Amino acid sequence: MTQTKRIARRLTRRDVMKSAAAAAALLPMPALAQGAAGRVVVIGGGFAGASCARALKALDARINVTLVEASRTFIACPFSNLVIAGMRELTAQQFGYDKVAAAGVTMAFSAASAVDPQGKSVTLADGNRLAYERLVLAPGIDIRWDGLPGYDEAAANVMPHAWKAGEQTTLLRRQLESMEDGGLVVISAPANPFRCPPGPYERASLIAYYLKTKKPKSKLILLDAKDAFSKQRLFQNAWKELYPNLEWVSLSSGGKVTSVEPASKTVVTDFSRHQAAVANIIPPQKAGRVADLAQVADRSGWCPVDPMTFESKQQPNIHVIGDAAIMGAMPKSAFSANAQAKVCAAAVAKLLAGEKPVEPRLINTCYSVVAPDYGITVAGVYRPKDGVLSDIEGAGGVSPIDAPASTRAAEARYADGWFKTITTEVFG
Ligand SMILES: Cc1cc2nc3c(=O)[nH]c(=O)nc-3n(C[C@H](O)[C@H](O)[C@H](O)COP(=O)(O)OP(=O)(O)OC[C@H]3O[C@@H](n4cnc5c(N)ncnc54)[C@H](O)[C@@H]3O)c2cc1C
Repeated sequence: MTQTKRIARRLTRRDVMKSAAAAAALLPMPALAQGAAGRVVVIGGGFAGASCARALKALDARINVTLVEASRTFIACPFSNLVIAGMRELTAQQFGYDKVAAAGVTMAFSAASAVDPQGKSVTLADGNRLAYERLVLAPGIDIRWDGLPGYDEAAANVMPHAWKAGEQTTLLRRQLESMEDGGLVVISAPANPFRCPPGPYERASLIAYYLKTKKPKSKLILLDAKDAFSKQRLFQNAWKELYPNLEWVSLSSGGKVTSVEPASKTVVTDFSRHQAAVANIIPPQKAGRVADLAQVADRSGWCPVDPMTFESKQQPNIHVIGDAAIMGAMPKSAFSANAQAKVCAAAVAKLLAGEKPVEPRLINTCYSVVAPDYGITVAGVYRPKDGVLSDIEGAGGVSPIDAPASTRAAEARYADGWFKTITTEVFG
């Protein structure tokens, strides 16, 4: 890339704010026909589902919206890497649904245990049945328990994934806290696609920060099933400067983990065996299980959707948003999930009113915290093209490679501001 092009792709906060405002203005706002309404069931009250349920009510209060969520407390993954590194408490990640209910959404606290796409109904674990005109699935991810030899649910109690926030997050933090100074920490990162592409590298950075400040004789190895990753140069520059005890092993250098042995906390690749004091295995993933029950997941384990409306390509009247869906170039993030939720709500409202949805534009921004005063960013803008969401060339970009410490510190503050804003919008 030439210097000019690199500068063109550099991103300032003002650019992000400008494009966010522009995209918000571009969101399709349906003018509903008189008397149009309908029943919409949303499964999954995370960033995608709770946002969609609220957006539907805001668009047309007459739409009957039920949000099905298995748990009364949502525990957010963004910023959970800071909890693991002892920089934040898990309670700061927890949110309830009182404000969602106050916005007019009917809450059903139970797991959805069956979906009948032909009969258009959802059965809940508590025995209730909900009929719908349109169903929105937003179940997030499940772990592929058959995806890595040796890694099953029992193994996750010894070698936590911490890729769903909650007990797993706390377990990994406790293991790091009780490890002796001088211990080996191993993180294994999966091949694409998976939830939060920069997440493993933010985690490695913050665990390295914990080790540097609390257990300086320890070492961290990040074994990767990829040769390239999100914000790679930014992360690697930061590691060189801050964390000499962090070693990244790429796919071509033998980084792909082929099996694990929980009894001895051993992580195995084609070329080596690493006996860890703490092993954090981030395994292969797939759409949350209810996607299989609704017959909307394909052989990849994820859900193909129409990029205009996020309606399933496999089942009519069922929309899939958030991590569970195949969204082309748009990464699986909370920011994306929230943006997709608003577009989906607008499309569903239009469809219920018998109108044609409008072509959307969507934005994603992923912040990563590398150290307490060190943040980096990647942003993208997307639109439907050739049946998927595609990057709009020249929009978005990454933080400057050679920024001063003040810029990194400002981006860490923006990350904090983003988390407060999105969680207030979705749950507050
Ligand atoms: C360590 C880590 C760091 C991250 N950092 C960031 C970040 O900085 N920025 C960012 O944008 N993203 C980040 N992410 C990604 C982000 O967490 C996900 O992309 C986001 O949570 C996806 O939203 P979702 O609604 O699809 O899924 P979720 O938020 O997981 O919500 C799914 C919900 O569905 C419910 N559910 C599932 N199945 C059923 C069922 N059958 N019945 C009822 N309820 C059900 C679950 O209980 C859950 O509440 C991070 C992820 C990780 C793991």
